[in-house]
Amino acid sequence: MDEANSGAAWRRRGQRAAEKVGFALPAGITMKRGPASEGTAFYFRHQELGELGRARVIHDGRGHSRFVGEVAGDEADPQTAKRAELLAPLIERLHHVLDEAAGVAHVPAPPLPTPRTMTSESSGRLPIKLMQCERCGKPVARLIFAPTGTHGRGEFEDVARMTFALCTEQPLPTWIVGPGNPVDILTAADPMEIRSMVMPIWPEHGALFESSPSQFNCTIRALQDSHCGQPPKAIVIRAFASAISPTRGER
Ligand SMILES: [Zn+2]
Repeated sequence: MDEANSGAAWRRRGQRAAEKVGFALPAGITMKRGPASEGTAFYFRHQELGELGRARVIHDGRGHSRFVGEVAGDEADPQTAKRAELLAPLIERLHHVLDEAAGVAHVPAPPLPTPRTMTSESSGRLPIKLMQCERCGKPVARLIFAPTGTHGRGEFEDVARMTFALCTEQPLPTWIVGPGNPVDILTAADPMEIRSMVMPIWPEHGALFESSPSQFNCTIRALQDSHCGQPPKAIVIRAFASAISPTRGER
């Protein structure tokens, strides 16, 4: 009976605390409460950085609980430090409010959230394409195809976080390619002209831009042409010249 009571009490406290914190969240940040092993967790999300991490409330079954902050991502990923910086004050605030709701003295010992690689969101299922050098066959670039629903910066950052290990294992210029523009999918006669949002993530994160396979091929082609130390300009210029004037290109 005590356990049931304490469970219900915890739910009420959690709800009150969540309401209190939820109303005071900074712009661009959302929070949701969800299940976690050994208790519940509050998940924080930023519109530009994607999932920030979570605060776990671990119940010991005797009315006490531990509060643990976890930042999403690999420790070696520079984005993880940015997420931790945003997350730390949110976790401290939530901890304070939960203590207040529970009627216990709050000890402000802001635990720097520890990095947590989100193994539940494996990148294993994302289609990945390696583009090769046509001369030596070595990979020159990587394209990661994001799942349906990847539209905003935060969602692209989620994909980048999940594929960070992949990029460090085999460092290659890497882009995340978002889902195709639905209007283009319905109307474009040529699949090469279907636009989607693209974000560079390796060697560093860059701005989102719109591209299509035919446009993006120029970027890949430039990487292929400059591989193996070949002078790329001569090849491109000759190809271009012969394309616009076959007879002059022969000379
Ligand atoms: Zn090569």
